[in-house]
Amino acid sequence: MTDPELPKLVLPGEYLGAAEQFLPGRGTYEDGGRIYASLLGVPAIDPADRTVRVEPRNAVPEVREGDLVYARVDELKTAMAVCTVLSTVASRRQVPGAPEGTVHISKAKDGYTESLAGEFAIGDVLVARVLQAHPGIKLTTAPASLGVVAARCQVCHALLTLGEKEAVCPRCGHREHRKFAKGPLPSPSGAHGPGGV
Ligand SMILES: [Zn+2]
Repeated sequence: MTDPELPKLVLPGEYLGAAEQFLPGRGTYEDGGRIYASLLGVPAIDPADRTVRVEPRNAVPEVREGDLVYARVDELKTAMAVCTVLSTVASRRQVPGAPEGTVHISKAKDGYTESLAGEFAIGDVLVARVLQAHPGIKLTTAPASLGVVAARCQVCHALLTLGEKEAVCPRCGHREHRKFAKGPLPSPSGAHGPGGV
């Protein structure tokens, strides 16, 4: 059970109570007669023996420089694609707050990009690498392995079958060009290794 005496969430090192008051349980430590949280979590007191413990709260995935993320294209501007960062590729868990990320036109693909509308379409899902996480999330899809991984036909909205340079709509036969992701994804830490971004 949770205890009204304690905060809802504690940080590692946060004071929980005196050792005369509680017994230190899981997720806590005692130092000089005082009990502290040893991890980020939810504190609780066992009323039977006054043991205080901290249940770990699952770490929320946050976006960091070098991470690979899934991002949905929301808007195409002249110089950038504005996206919603959906999840990290590694965790496949939703990124809290669905933060905005942008792909600058110079980072859409290797070489010169005349128009982002030739590489992405609104609603496309990209695999992108985080170039910068703060204050804004800046993404790149320049490497061959990054780019569009799911796209819908602009005519009939069927999911496109992705090809090398062109996608063909399996329903209406419409052909569309995208900057597709090709081949296996690089490792999430690949930004810092050879062949990275
Ligand atoms: Zn179609």
